[in-house]
Amino acid sequence: MSQQQANPFEIAQRQLDEAAELLGLSSAMQSFLRVPMREHHFSIPLAMDDGSYRVFQGFRVQYNDARGPAKGGIRFHPDETIDTVRALAAWMTWKTSVVDIPLGGGKGGVICDPKSMSPGELERLSRAYMRRIAHLIGPDKDVPAPDVYTTPQIMAWMLDEYEVITGRHLPGVITGKPVELAGSLGRGDATARGGVYVVREAAQALGLSLEGQPAAIQGYGNAGWYAHQLAVELLGLKVVAISDSKGGVYSEQGIDAQAAAAHKERTGSVVGLAGTDVVTNGELFELPVMVLFPCALENVITERNAAKIRAEIVAELANGPTTPEADEILFENEVCVLPDFLCNAGGVTVSYFEQVQNASNFYWTLDEVYHRLDAKMSRAFHAVHEVASARKVHNRLAAYMVAVARVAEAVAMRGWVK
Ligand code: GLU
Repeated sequence: MSQQQANPFEIAQRQLDEAAELLGLSSAMQSFLRVPMREHHFSIPLAMDDGSYRVFQGFRVQYNDARGPAKGGIRFHPDETIDTVRALAAWMTWKTSVVDIPLGGGKGGVICDPKSMSPGELERLSRAYMRRIAHLIGPDKDVPAPDVYTTPQIMAWMLDEYEVITGRHLPGVITGKPVELAGSLGRGDATARGGVYVVREAAQALGLSLEGQPAAIQGYGNAGWYAHQLAVELLGLKVVAISDSKGGVYSEQGIDAQAAAAHKERTGSVVGLAGTDVVTNGELFELPVMVLFPCALENVITERNAAKIRAEIVAELANGPTTPEADEILFENEVCVLPDFLCNAGGVTVSYFEQVQNASNFYWTLDEVYHRLDAKMSRAFHAVHEVASARKVHNRLAAYMVAVARVAEAVAMRGWVK
């Protein structure tokens, strides 16, 4: 791959092609699974606080709904493109399939910089986005959720807008809602918690002991911060390095998650945390740690730095952090990669639990959520691990083989393509 940024959708298609070949899918099936079933593009004019008007571009991609309603988050990000949304929608299709929940894959996005917008502007943008997609979605069609830079509050505004439009209560139309507004207990840390359960299973399968071992976390949003807390609490790891878009910090003694969160809350970054040394995002990837958690954006592990990774386990809580070239290098170096759509599937799994609770209008305890999440994640890991061992392929390809086979089977049973 060249120096220029890899196109995530091309990567998603290459990954699918490889799995389709090993699975022996027909070329018609492969062609069908390579592209979204539907995609929607729209402009969103918005009155800003200073009286000016701006026009934002929005997308919703419904990649595949053979196994159930399309499912996936909405990103508000300045670098959003239709190809990132397509890739993320494809990965949602494989994600819901690998954890075996009865949903398909979708994704949405708006090109905007939420960090430079006021709460009022964000609310108006969220409601306006929902007005564009309200007729396209529903608990039985397509169910959005949070993703990068979208929050439970944004889900609440979107739910409210949808219910105003339709004139009825339908909380299952969107997930990741606040607990006070038909959300599920345990959704907040679900992505990280699911990933930590997968790391626990992988370490056991590899015969590695995690207690007291060093870990590093790249990205300190929702997934990164909870990964820090839970890696310590549930796995006994010592988190020695953390970073965000402004830079990173390192401490051999280990970094306290509460202190880091308080510092970031106060200053907007983890940089400058008391008792730590500076580390760059690039250096963080090369630290001698047991577990490395990429928790931010796409294409951060490439052929340029993959050979320098010294972690035993790479637990991908971000979507798309590793390029296919890097995958090959990591596989050769016997680094255990827990691929994104398996490792970060805890979020959508608890979103599914949220929908189930909304549909029955009966809410579960935190213990019930944890217990069911653990069962789903552990089963998914072992299904992938079995294929990886039997076929001697890396975990990502094995995860693709498990997930794509299930989607292809549903597509064939519906008689769409054989
Ligand atoms: N945005 C999350 C993901 O990429 C969650 C999606 C959902 O809950 O639907 O998995």
